[in-house]
Amino acid sequence: MNILLLGSGGREHALAWKLTQSKFCDQLFIAPGNTGTAQHGTNLSFSVTDFEAIKTTCLERNIELVVIGPEEPLVKGLVNYLKTDPATQHLLIIGPSQEAAQLEGSKAFAKAFMDRHGIPTAAYREFTTENFTDGVEYLHRHTLPIVLKADGLAAGKGVIICQNHVEAVSEFELMIQRAKFGEAGKRVVVEEYLDGIELSVFVLTDGNNYVVLPEAKDYKRVGEGDTGLNTGGMGAVSPVPFADNTFMQKVITKVVEPTVKGLQKDNLDYKGFVFIGLMKVGDEPYVIEYNCRMGDPETEVVMPRLKNDLVELLTATAKGELTNTPIEHDSRFATTIMAVSGGYPNEHKKGLPISGLKEFEQGNDVFVFHAGTKDIDGTIVTNGGRVFCVTALADTVEAAVDNAKTIMDTIDFEDKYYRSDIGYEFIS
Ligand code: ATP
Repeated sequence: MNILLLGSGGREHALAWKLTQSKFCDQLFIAPGNTGTAQHGTNLSFSVTDFEAIKTTCLERNIELVVIGPEEPLVKGLVNYLKTDPATQHLLIIGPSQEAAQLEGSKAFAKAFMDRHGIPTAAYREFTTENFTDGVEYLHRHTLPIVLKADGLAAGKGVIICQNHVEAVSEFELMIQRAKFGEAGKRVVVEEYLDGIELSVFVLTDGNNYVVLPEAKDYKRVGEGDTGLNTGGMGAVSPVPFADNTFMQKVITKVVEPTVKGLQKDNLDYKGFVFIGLMKVGDEPYVIEYNCRMGDPETEVVMPRLKNDLVELLTATAKGELTNTPIEHDSRFATTIMAVSGGYPNEHKKGLPISGLKEFEQGNDVFVFHAGTKDIDGTIVTNGGRVFCVTALADTVEAAVDNAKTIMDTIDFEDKYYRSDIGYEFIS
């Protein structure tokens, strides 16, 4: 079948690679893609929110399956747009409806969903301009630290953890009264702080049935030892050593099953990936967030470990036939390390030539996934903060990291930076 994949990051390169491993994939189109996705299919130069271009492409290229990588088109209603048009309603689509995508698009919606369905999460209250004064009083009485979250999408920057009441009230005021995060932050979720360790669990659901994909842990901070500013993600590890069978069983019974049942009870049309951001507090899982798509860079460790045919899995998901599908995965560790442009996540250069990329030969145990890359007259140049990542598979985290670093050091551009300590807490 012909497939359209939307997105342009490392996640989409990993998905493109995995989709084209399938015997069911005829032609793959990626919009807008990057130089990495171009190795596996045809890049098309329109944006992921250009709904009309997406529809036209589906018709002109005989697309049967649409895989939506990032959240923006989902939250803006791409699935509804395609499913309500008679010309495209037959398409198999991976991604939830706009209503269901609010699980990611609105933190207040997600919290209310969890409350309604008894899914463990931090205690919370939500505030707007209307109950602003109550909010200030509530903050003064709240135990420290206090977590403030802008309700809407804020590019991963809308969460502030405040260590004292003065800071909390000041940030709260900036968000609600002075629109620090624009419309996204005019509604604020105030949440209890959870003290634990984080991991991400990935589920594919057809709305009734589900499968659990390999879990992962990502490294968000730019600096070694988890210091400095938050980024889109500097690396990831899968499997997560502290997520043993007993813990994962709890995740399934206390989080995954009530989530899928909750979608049904609330009549939310959901066929796609559910990314569950969890905090392990003691031995118990608490949900920090839902995302309605795969993570980046987690996809770059999850896909190389997944042994199932991805097109078969996604087709079953979109058709509502995901019954009793066993997930098979490589038992080794996968780690990925992201190379970023100097200065990222602040100002950084673009258009810098990258050496060594074309010479890299992909094996079964090492992969280079492009993120912000672009081809200018035959030269691959940087085109974003996160430029590419190297994934390696090995029997230990340490060996996987070492193998990824060896490849990382053969690919270069001006002011390249990467964290050399990915997976540090799992290396003795
Ligand atoms: P992302 O960039 O992952 O999409 P986001 O903006 O959607 O982030 P969250 O994932 O809800 O926001 O929170 C971002 C980070 O803040 C979490 O990964 C976690 O480290 C921290 N955090 C969020 N909520 C809590 C909490 N209740 N207690 C402790 N830390 C928290």
